[in-house]
Amino acid sequence: MDPLKRVEQELKKCVKCGACRAHCPAFQELRREPAVARGKVALAQHLMKGDISLDDQTYLAMSKCLLCGSCVEKCPNDVPTDEIVIAAREALAAQRGLTTFHRAVGRVIRNRRLMNMGAAMAALLGPLFFRKVPRTSGLRLRFPLPFIGGKRHIPQLAKKPFMDRHPEVIEGEPGKPRIVYFVGCMTNFVYTEIGEAALALFRHLGCTVIIPKEQQCCGLPGMSGGDLATVRELAEKNLAALEKFEADYIVTACATCGGALHKLYPLVVGKRHPELKARLDALAAKNIDAAVLLQKLGLHPEETGAGEQLAVTYHDPCHLRTRAVTRQPRELLRETPGVEFLEMEGADKCCGLGGTFNVYHYDTSLAINAPKAAAIEKSGASVVATGCPGCMMQLADGLHHRGAKTRVMHTLEILARRLR
Ligand code: SF4
Ligand code: SF4
Repeated sequence: MDPLKRVEQELKKCVKCGACRAHCPAFQELRREPAVARGKVALAQHLMKGDISLDDQTYLAMSKCLLCGSCVEKCPNDVPTDEIVIAAREALAAQRGLTTFHRAVGRVIRNRRLMNMGAAMAALLGPLFFRKVPRTSGLRLRFPLPFIGGKRHIPQLAKKPFMDRHPEVIEGEPGKPRIVYFVGCMTNFVYTEIGEAALALFRHLGCTVIIPKEQQCCGLPGMSGGDLATVRELAEKNLAALEKFEADYIVTACATCGGALHKLYPLVVGKRHPELKARLDALAAKNIDAAVLLQKLGLHPEETGAGEQLAVTYHDPCHLRTRAVTRQPRELLRETPGVEFLEMEGADKCCGLGGTFNVYHYDTSLAINAPKAAAIEKSGASVVATGCPGCMMQLADGLHHRGAKTRVMHTLEILARRLR
């Protein structure tokens, strides 16, 4: 079926009011109609009618979306622009083929062994290509490489992936919840400290923690490029890996992975593969963000102790904000001894990462991030906390370009400091 036909009814909902212009980070920066939800919906309508072709201009316009969902949240007519853009990208990929970059991404994320090997190689060869950036724990390329460029601040890969450090099942206390932990690639290979903090906190609460060995990438990088075949394959593999264990909750500490499990799997994969819909819905219903679960299970941050004094501000990842997870991380942080919580201006604004948007439109991505980095610095905080490793990488890059000294941490790391 033509991917755009699937969203035909949704396309009709747009009344061209333009309310989305005030909320779209891409439009705020680019100031062009094709960048905003209304423009993309109009393009998709013309594409479906055959008035315009799937040419380079259309491709470029559809690539200028971070899939942040801000427009969906604010649209008075509930137009699901993120779903429409994904359908348009799928149509473009079907007609023009995947780009070289997205073909390579699909090949890697479909193969966990390849990812493990790649991460080990990158850790080994890293010093040849990267140098340490002073004052931060990040790296900078020694010379530009395709798709990476030369001015990015890149986090270091972990020496050993998180999932290789722990057994599959870590038994807790009888009668306490059983948690399946969906780790995500960024935590497994880069920010392993997020995984360690999550594990420490859930064990502190007596939970049994299951880290299924066969879990895969959530597939969102494939979704960005219209590679829905890869997304479907990974969704099916993840279903099998997670369903193997009886659990009260399927927890994510990565907002993007949570967005995939909770929203995009049922919405995008479920609609295309009705045979998977019931299982995907069940998975979505059990998925919960780690901060929400910690609060629900009664974590009292005062028990976790203080460690050093920190002035902390919080950035809302789009994939948490759009599922109404904004209050819980702030409350946990505010209650933590040793933490002075400072709200920043525009905490709910997108950081500009947008998955592969950051790869294709790096300068725009950085420009979207610039007011965020300024607001973080202006808040006076020494640490910016957030609930998404992707946002962490983008925030660190933006702060580095600004020359700011603010540290970037995951909320769970702050909560778990004394525990470890
Ligand atoms: S997408 Fe929604 S907010 Fe934007 S123009 Fe259409 S109806 Fe209005
Ligand atoms: S999903 Fe985000 S970037 Fe894309 S059109 Fe909507 S507001 Fe703009």
